[in-house]
Amino acid sequence: MSNKQARRDDRPLPVALPAVLTTARNRVAIMGYQQPLLYVSSEQLRINARCFRAAMPRVRPHFAVKSNPDRRILDVLHEEGIHFEVASRSELAVLLDMGVDPDNIFYSNPIKPDDYIHYAVSHGVRWYAVDSVAEVEKMHRHAPQASLYLRISVSNLGAAWPLEGKFGVIGREAEAVMDACMQYGMDLAGVTFHVGSQCLNSDNWVEGIRAAQRTFGAMRQRGYRPRLLNLGGGFPVQMHADVPSISDIGKRINDELANLDNGFTVIAEPGRNLVASAGCLVTRVVGTAIRNGQRWLYLDTGIYGGLMELNDRFRYPVISERVGEMVSWTLAGPTCDSLDICLRNQLLPESMQSGDLLFLPFTGAYTSSCATRFNGFPPPMVVVLS
Ligand SMILES: *Cc1c(COP(=O)(O)O)cnc(C)c1O
Repeated sequence: MSNKQARRDDRPLPVALPAVLTTARNRVAIMGYQQPLLYVSSEQLRINARCFRAAMPRVRPHFAVKSNPDRRILDVLHEEGIHFEVASRSELAVLLDMGVDPDNIFYSNPIKPDDYIHYAVSHGVRWYAVDSVAEVEKMHRHAPQASLYLRISVSNLGAAWPLEGKFGVIGREAEAVMDACMQYGMDLAGVTFHVGSQCLNSDNWVEGIRAAQRTFGAMRQRGYRPRLLNLGGGFPVQMHADVPSISDIGKRINDELANLDNGFTVIAEPGRNLVASAGCLVTRVVGTAIRNGQRWLYLDTGIYGGLMELNDRFRYPVISERVGEMVSWTLAGPTCDSLDICLRNQLLPESMQSGDLLFLPFTGAYTSSCATRFNGFPPPMVVVLS
């Protein structure tokens, strides 16, 4: 098959590209380029926070810090009145340093080292996820006054990055964890779930809320009075027209929440949806080759440098400043590891060469936060714009 025929026929429908793409291009043109960059637009962060709220007025958003823990980004979201969700001691430490009220911080990692729990409790964090008997016992030992929410397993079908299997109780396991809460006298206040990251299937939230309602029933049978529903994360960034918008997903969730008692606090933990479209990563071609008739582009950052999601499941748009006939390229990172291969069939101009820049919009989440220094290549430098 020639390169020209290698077009994927499932190519996604484009949507309007975020404004930060143009800003990134202009900035690089003026300031030059020394290393991989991640430009982040504060204005887009604010827009995303407001869109999320408008889509689900009853749902209080808690930003999942892991998706982008840059302090400047957290500050903008904090100013917008967004709350936070953490998974570790150091994520929490940044929020405490910012003056975030610990009462509103949710510690949703179901598995927590003893000293992290101790740190969180001694700094006033009240809310913790659990999904195993051993973790309930641990919480009882370090934080008998804590309020717990049970993570249940739900369908991750239609998510670009499924998370099921690693966390969440399934079936009868829920009863064992609830019984352990009873036995240790813990406050079991609610339920959470995660539908998988970049989830394109709104049914997962609807089914998750229904599963939570059944779990509330089982809690009441044990004498608990549940009062928290935590919808978790997974809200996608709309980088193609076939990705549902946050208002589409919000409508489904709002309809389902109409069946939930008004006494419930409902929160969600969006990560990607709040930051992805605010970011545009810039990378440079450092080498090209033709191997077995296939064209290869080697970039100055790859799987280990923040582009771990640059694959066929996510379908990030990759934008070059060149024009000309489009052919199929394989995109790879600069390290010597054979794992460091990104896309196998990316259409880009035939004339691409070393020194060319590529622009990747929608990359504000899970890029800089996941980057390593493997093989001595620097991770993207984050530049936060006003
Ligand atoms: C990662 C994570 C999130 C955020 O997921 P997104 O797909 O970025 O929205 C929320 N809650 C928990 C518990 C997580 O682990």
